[in-house]
Amino acid sequence: MDFNTYLLIWVCIFGLCMGSFYNVVILRSLSGESIVFPPSKCPKCNHKLYPWHNIPVLSYIFLRGRCYFCKEKISIQYPIIELLTMFMFGYSFFVFGSSYKTCFVIFWLSCLLIMTMTDIKEKLVDCNIAIILAISGIIYSWLSLGLSGVLYSVLGLIAGAVIMELFARLGFLIAGNRAMGEADTYVAGALGAIFGVKSIVFVLCLSLFASMLFILPIFLYNKYKENDKLTCISFILFTLSLVTFYTLFQNVWMLVCVGISGLFLIYGTMRGIRTAKRKNYLPYVPALAIAAVYYIFLLH
Ligand SMILES: [Zn+2]
Repeated sequence: MDFNTYLLIWVCIFGLCMGSFYNVVILRSLSGESIVFPPSKCPKCNHKLYPWHNIPVLSYIFLRGRCYFCKEKISIQYPIIELLTMFMFGYSFFVFGSSYKTCFVIFWLSCLLIMTMTDIKEKLVDCNIAIILAISGIIYSWLSLGLSGVLYSVLGLIAGAVIMELFARLGFLIAGNRAMGEADTYVAGALGAIFGVKSIVFVLCLSLFASMLFILPIFLYNKYKENDKLTCISFILFTLSLVTFYTLFQNVWMLVCVGISGLFLIYGTMRGIRTAKRKNYLPYVPALAIAAVYYIFLLH
């Protein structure tokens, strides 16, 4: 086995262990507990766990996804985060090799993963993580480009934060409240510090596309739960008539169907935005994270 493969295996094992740690960070950054103390315990029965209950992925398999003491189901989130972190570490090493860049990329991905998970689960993001992310971005630019790198990085930080803040405040015009949370401004600023002023606008545009991936499913699911039949039916009719128009009948009646169902859909959407409460905020950190990952691995 050559040295790099050997190293890759150790990076993956290290990733698994760090994933296990991130699970704790995600859980405790939501509850405000200390990360180091107390030792891990079952959230249901509060029983202290044995060391062999904390082996990444393997413990979950041996315990068949249940607590050893009270048999309460353990969330599938734990092994998924562990495997995802392992993949993140391994892939970063595979792409960037043994360089300081790999360390930075691994650190950035870790911060983004933790913030994404807390944003999805509780719509809460620890802004301190975003601040650390921004500082690491400035240090990275300094190491790779010198003082001009620091300038690009700081300008990027300002640009990212200002653009995202303006974007969030557009919500006041449409719905009377912020379109996104304050944490998104911090994260966008941090990404600006990492990618620099020349790239941050592009990364933010990418995040807009990424957010479309979950806006529509979440929106429809909420409408379905709120029992808003009109919006759901108009969406289905709109999609059906649009597809029919493009594939089967390109006549004026089909176009009328597209128009009417489209109007109802716009009406439902506008009403949905207006009546939405703070809880209905769309988590935007996942979109920023997807854009950052795409940029780091495919364009950098
Ligand atoms: Zn238990």
